Amino acid sequence: MQSRKVYLDNSATTIVNAEVIKDMEAYFANIYGNASSIHSFGRQAKEALNNSREQIASLLNASVDEIFFTGCGTESDNIAIFGILNAHDFKGHIITTKIEHHAVLYSCQYLEKNGYNVTYLDVDKDGVISLEDFKRTVRDDTVLVSIMHANNEVGAIQPIEEIGAYLQTINESRNNKIYFHTDAVQTAGKVHLDVKALKVDLLAISGHKFYAPKGIGVLYVKKGTKIKPITFGGSQESELRPGTENIPYIVGITKAFEIANAYLEENNKRVLFLREELKEGVIKKIPEVIINGSGSKAVSSILNVSFKYIEGEALLVMLDMCGIAASTGSACAVGLGGSHVLQAMCVDPIAAQGTIRFSFGCYNTQNDVDYVLEHLPKIVEKLRLMSPMYKGKVLKQGF
Ligand code: PLP
Repeated sequence: MQSRKVYLDNSATTIVNAEVIKDMEAYFANIYGNASSIHSFGRQAKEALNNSREQIASLLNASVDEIFFTGCGTESDNIAIFGILNAHDFKGHIITTKIEHHAVLYSCQYLEKNGYNVTYLDVDKDGVISLEDFKRTVRDDTVLVSIMHANNEVGAIQPIEEIGAYLQTINESRNNKIYFHTDAVQTAGKVHLDVKALKVDLLAISGHKFYAPKGIGVLYVKKGTKIKPITFGGSQESELRPGTENIPYIVGITKAFEIANAYLEENNKRVLFLREELKEGVIKKIPEVIINGSGSKAVSSILNVSFKYIEGEALLVMLDMCGIAASTGSACAVGLGGSHVLQAMCVDPIAAQGTIRFSFGCYNTQNDVDYVLEHLPKIVEKLRLMSPMYKGKVLKQGF
């Protein structure tokens, strides 16, 4: 067994930054009041809540009353989608893509079963939708567009600003406004998010993708948006997300978002360099690989590779035995069959079975890449020698 550990699964989740933990600590042990209480304990908690909301609003170029704290990215997406639909008294048409995270995809599939019409946009080989296709799908009864900012498996970035601009223009002459939601869970902390520049009405982020703890998210809702709550209880978060606010985690996501934005360019540069080093090393050292998604239209942190003739799960297990943590795609989709994202990108289904996502974070180093490049080629070779698919190919070629 190896003692060395290399973590290349930062799109699944990240370590919590030490500075974030430090800021959170006081809110567990000392400032532990309920932000709705009127005594001094509560007022201190409320002050932390207000400050956090102000900081997140400022980082997203939003107003304080447009920021809602939630329990995670999935919850933010669900409030956005179901909240908009609940506020409309007709079953409007929804436009989304075939490559959304299950938080959006399964919500849309559920809605379809309940009488809503949903259009799932195709993507090209790089995982990007066509703006023209999108424009053609808009209907008189369209009420919601939900398109992710960057995909979690291949990193593909979608033309959110262009979609937002188009919707803004057509909304001027429509009776029923089309609301625009984007799941920005994979871009928060990696791309400067400006809700005004993106021209979105709703935007979801999740703390554990940028060095805050798991279990805390944010939903931006533009002022004037017709939205209703999907859970009921207290008056917290303007009744859109009732439930006692999780102050330590709210302080944590705020600090993490601040740090991620302050070091964004620096981190992206480093991460991009490491990703390209790994990509070039893999191409040089391992035959018959496919790089999925285009580096130039994707976040800098994700490298998605299909290794032909082997199973991704077997490769993951053997990498894990060497102390290397990666993933076969979305951590949330493990055990749910093949990747719907690679399928939508028309990646050869046999090759897709041998797909691994390496996702970099700000703590990765050149040594990590070197270590992976030392072990990965040997593991791939070993697995291919055991693979009936590979043996069949070798026999066919008459070696
Ligand atoms: N959306 C995307 C694009 C994601 O990658 C994830 C998590 O992997 C989520 C939503 C869900 O976020 P959370 O784990 O905070 O529920």
